[in-house]
Amino acid sequence: MAKVKRIPLVIGNWKMHPATLEAAKKLGKEVVAKALRARGTEACDVGIAVPTLYFDEIGKITKGKPIMLGAQNAAAGAVGAQTGEVSAGMIAERRGAFVIVGHSERRTLGEDNAQVGARASGVLAAKMTPIVCVGEKVRDTDGDYYHLVTEQLEAVFAELGPTAAARVVVAYEPVWAIGTGLTPTAEDVSTMRLSIKKYLHGKYGDSVANKVRVLYGGSVTDENATDFMQNGMIDGFLVGGASLSPATFAAIIKVCTA
Ligand code: PEP
Repeated sequence: MAKVKRIPLVIGNWKMHPATLEAAKKLGKEVVAKALRARGTEACDVGIAVPTLYFDEIGKITKGKPIMLGAQNAAAGAVGAQTGEVSAGMIAERRGAFVIVGHSERRTLGEDNAQVGARASGVLAAKMTPIVCVGEKVRDTDGDYYHLVTEQLEAVFAELGPTAAARVVVAYEPVWAIGTGLTPTAEDVSTMRLSIKKYLHGKYGDSVANKVRVLYGGSVTDENATDFMQNGMIDGFLVGGASLSPATFAAIIKVCTA
């Protein structure tokens, strides 16, 4: 496969934080100011996935700046009898650029592969980028987790043609590493990245496999980010807890610009 230089991408997932809109605005201002300094000129794409209720206010802070605003989930349809859901179209209308889909915290609540695939298609149809989370709950000695991740990928890519597929971002997030302080080795991440690339290559060929960015997520800090970037062969990070610290989030961005 020919080597292609992809721009790194760092996404902060605020999850259900912070507790108030005032705190969110304060955090947003600090995150944006520090992230802008860290990314320099176009060396790294940056986004923050905030609670949807804070979208408009944080959108005022990111407006006109190269920091993307995104959501943490989106329903597949445009409108409908889906109590509690927000559609991809609604998020796009509020200037959302991307949506995280298939996060393990959503899968734990019962979202299955088919639903994740439908949600990712909805995000693409709304002209946004789906950040598709895949990852195993546990690592078994027979390597079944590679098959599990491939199944998760297939649920998303099965119906996608090459143009749509090239717009997807895959975030490899081993569930056991999320919020636990545990991490795989950079070599483990690199091997999983290769498996994801092999799947994409087999399905679409070089061009799409080269374009799809593969991120790593799971207890990323400014201390372990360099190793993952250099030895994990990834294109950036999906950052949970550490994205709530503007300084740490900026330091992770800085690693990706090196
Ligand atoms: C996440 O929520 O996607 C995540 C990776 O969380 P953390 O960085 O806190 O492990």
